[in-house]
Amino acid sequence: MTQQSDHTQDAQKSGFETRAIHAGYEPDPTTGAVIPPIFATSTYKQDGVGGLRGGYEYSRSANPTRTALEGQLAALEEGERGFAFASGLAAEDTLVRATCKPGDHVVIPNDAYGGTYRLFAKVEQAWGVEITPAPVSDVDAVRAAIRPGQTKIVWLETPTNPLLTIGDVEALAAVAHEAGALLVVDNTFASPYLQQPLTLGADVVVHSTTKYAGGHSDVVGGALVVRELELAEQVAFHQNAIGAVAGPFDAWLVMRGLKTLGVRMDRHCDNAEKVVDLLTGHRGVSQVIYPGLAEHPGHQVATQQMKRYGGMVSFRVAAGEQAALDLCERTRVFTLGESLGGVESLIEHPGRMTHASVAGTDLEVPNDLVRLSVGIETADDLLADLEQALS
Ligand SMILES: *Cc1c(COP(=O)(O)O)cnc(C)c1O
Repeated sequence: MTQQSDHTQDAQKSGFETRAIHAGYEPDPTTGAVIPPIFATSTYKQDGVGGLRGGYEYSRSANPTRTALEGQLAALEEGERGFAFASGLAAEDTLVRATCKPGDHVVIPNDAYGGTYRLFAKVEQAWGVEITPAPVSDVDAVRAAIRPGQTKIVWLETPTNPLLTIGDVEALAAVAHEAGALLVVDNTFASPYLQQPLTLGADVVVHSTTKYAGGHSDVVGGALVVRELELAEQVAFHQNAIGAVAGPFDAWLVMRGLKTLGVRMDRHCDNAEKVVDLLTGHRGVSQVIYPGLAEHPGHQVATQQMKRYGGMVSFRVAAGEQAALDLCERTRVFTLGESLGGVESLIEHPGRMTHASVAGTDLEVPNDLVRLSVGIETADDLLADLEQALS
């Protein structure tokens, strides 16, 4: 497609924050604009029939604002190519269609994001793709769920949502590859700042860029980053053939968000660690779930594959479901709401909110569970808010 400039290539060799700020785009040759314009155009003037400028023909196939984001995503995940979609689920569906056909089989996490589970259970299964849920923290259980010759994808989320289970990317990549399957990692919770699955052997990374990548709760988007050229070409074909692409304004918002991902993630982690300290040992809390805690069953693996442990914290309320619901309504700085990964702190009750659709299935979550997306406000304000809501 568009040729990579020296600026972009230099950026790809540099540190994470430099790549976040410079990769994917060089100042516009005609105006010098430092930030990619929002190319609100569906089509492009051709210099004679087939004489495309920079490969641009029609904005479903490619749009310069989206190209900039896709280059930035590839640089951050250290993949061959990035692809931006209208939502995380649109990215997932495109990937399944690019890699599976009816009769194929996928192993999915038994505590996958609810929307991912629904996509596989209600849409991909109806299309003829079979699924088996397996616990991602148990390499042997994942191996046992694989059907050699039929399994095309081992799907991993780590940490998972909302129980923050950790899967070993390197070990699961080996298990998937042994069986001729791809390892796909949903890296939404960790973000590429904390974990780069492609460097640990995964074949594809999935993002809901709605979350930490966008980071400001102002856009819905998704992404795929692919490690190897051949699969990238299949995904590129399907991205255009299906057409669930990110629009230019959405691509621009995600790109702006990604520039500050490193500083935001460090503050999310700092604040989450302080929240975990407050909740641990609080008499209103029966269990704190955070991969940074030594007693978390995935702590060791998380320490190996993650830079830090992230901004998501889940905990169980000692007095049960009603107390958990009351708590969610009593916080003032933590906003009651779904989603995660924005600068503002959010609180929710997964059993009644994000995970209501998996009640009664293998993916059901405890009814006294509360999930926090710890934002980047002043830490003392977050702690005081939780303290008053718990008392
Ligand atoms: C939100 C989310 C998705 C789905 O992304 P959308 O942008 O809402 O379509 C997928 N995986 C995880 C882990 C998520 O949190």
